[in-house]
Amino acid sequence: LHAAAERATGVILCPDRIWLNGRFVRGFAVELNAGTGRIERVAKMADYEGDSRVRQMPGRALLPGFVNAHSHSFQRLIRGRTQWRTAARTADFWSWREAMYAAALSLGPDDVYHAARFCFIEMLRAGYTSVGEFHYLHNAPDGTAYDEPGELALRVIAAATDAGIRIRLLNVAYAAGGIGQPLAPEQRRFGTPDLDAYLAGTQHLIDGLRGSPLASVGVAPHSVRAVPREWIRPLHDFAAQHDLPFHVHASEQPAEVEACLAAYGVRPVQLLASERALDKRVTLVHATHLSKAEIALIGKARATVAACPTTERDLGDGILEAGSLLAAGAGMAIGSDSQTIIAPLEEIRLIEYHERLRSLRRIVITGGDGALRSRRAAGERRVVAPSLIGIGTRGGARSLRLPTGDIQAGAFADLIAIDLDHESLAGATEDDVLAAALALSAPPSVVSDVWVHGRCVVQERAHADAGEAARAFSKVVVS
Ligand SMILES: [Zn+2]
Repeated sequence: LHAAAERATGVILCPDRIWLNGRFVRGFAVELNAGTGRIERVAKMADYEGDSRVRQMPGRALLPGFVNAHSHSFQRLIRGRTQWRTAARTADFWSWREAMYAAALSLGPDDVYHAARFCFIEMLRAGYTSVGEFHYLHNAPDGTAYDEPGELALRVIAAATDAGIRIRLLNVAYAAGGIGQPLAPEQRRFGTPDLDAYLAGTQHLIDGLRGSPLASVGVAPHSVRAVPREWIRPLHDFAAQHDLPFHVHASEQPAEVEACLAAYGVRPVQLLASERALDKRVTLVHATHLSKAEIALIGKARATVAACPTTERDLGDGILEAGSLLAAGAGMAIGSDSQTIIAPLEEIRLIEYHERLRSLRRIVITGGDGALRSRRAAGERRVVAPSLIGIGTRGGARSLRLPTGDIQAGAFADLIAIDLDHESLAGATEDDVLAAALALSAPPSVVSDVWVHGRCVVQERAHADAGEAARAFSKVVVS
């Protein structure tokens, strides 16, 4: 009855603290509008005295939900299955990719749905409220198109809406096995060999999702390896015409940079810039092997880099130069990518911790979107937590071009509650200490409740469909 009433009229959340403009504040309430799925108002609790819609939340702090800017949900199936090698062979990104291809070849549409739904529920419980699903599983296992060309994209979107997570389906263009090379047989499910057919398919998805509260589409050439140079500009033009995000894997591995230099005489980010595909709607995924000139180009363009440090450390990709990118003016977001670990707090802290390992310094990431207002509040004292939380929330929202990632009137009501009685936060009573403990130390289990589009989808760490989704997931067989 209680839940039904909240659905009808919205709810006014009154936690101990809320995350507002880069810091925790007390005494504020957040009014959710169930009809619009947006935050109606953020106001002093005293303004709502006696209102029957008030829900007291003692021992809880409210944050904007984290945004997962880069995900391949089906890869959740190979977690734990690639952590070995033969004595005769070195393991690296490329050998991992063979195992990932084998898994991709074995999945039917139901398998894709069950893998995605379970993965999205895991994301919600860890504190992600939006996901940018970089979707390149297009064709049937034999490489032919499905009767409905968007079959698998629609399965992933159904999985997201059933789980209750917001999704930006980044529809991937994938036409080559390498620069100037045909698709390899094991890449046959990914292929979009015709540009016009890809654009028509993307348009079809856009039209089908008009009016959907949770699902929308974006444009994503897989990488400069996987699409011809001539495709880059029309793909970006299409994204601009429809005001969509444009995502692309870039410079994840030195071999990609070398192949790009050999074929075009420029590095991947320079190639994108030369094709007028580097601006604020662009997100470069990984970008772990950049030249100084490329860092300057990204910053000047105000493009975003999606850091996926739990995946990058797993695959031996390299370390992102996050501090230099932010200083140059780049945006930054996080992604769970290969799903080795699904934990936004872990992704944001690794951006800082990896910089510490490289630079032999501490307190490195103090800039970026999240820090602007908090720095003033903190005087001359530089702190990392607001920057890191800003990367995970506001930075992701900017990458996916969604009005989320902030607790403010008009934003989507995508929120997470933190359990302040969690053992990992014991003793963190001052606001700035709490922020630091959360950003740099706490596990995903500090997330107690999650709202997406104004609807509570995780309550006291429980998601209604988690058990059934786990059973269906565990029945999916991967080779
Ligand atoms: Zn990826």
